[in-house]
Amino acid sequence: MCSYCRFSDEGINHLFLQCSFAKALWSWLQDMIQIAINLLFTILIFNFLKRSWSSQGMDVLASMVVHAI
Ligand SMILES: [Zn+2]
Repeated sequence: MCSYCRFSDEGINHLFLQCSFAKALWSWLQDMIQIAINLLFTILIFNFLKRSWSSQGMDVLASMVVHAI
């Protein structure tokens, strides 16, 4: 269960792209840095990494990005 929205499983795609909290965070970040973030490109990167990295590695990456923001 997602610890942010308590609506869905806490998978990498949900955590970064589908969660209402993540969407609000991406929107806030785009406003802060005044650069549009291409979510489709982000999805492609995560899907590529997901195929080549272990799920544990993806969890570490997700944690690093969330805590960096
Ligand atoms: Zn969520």
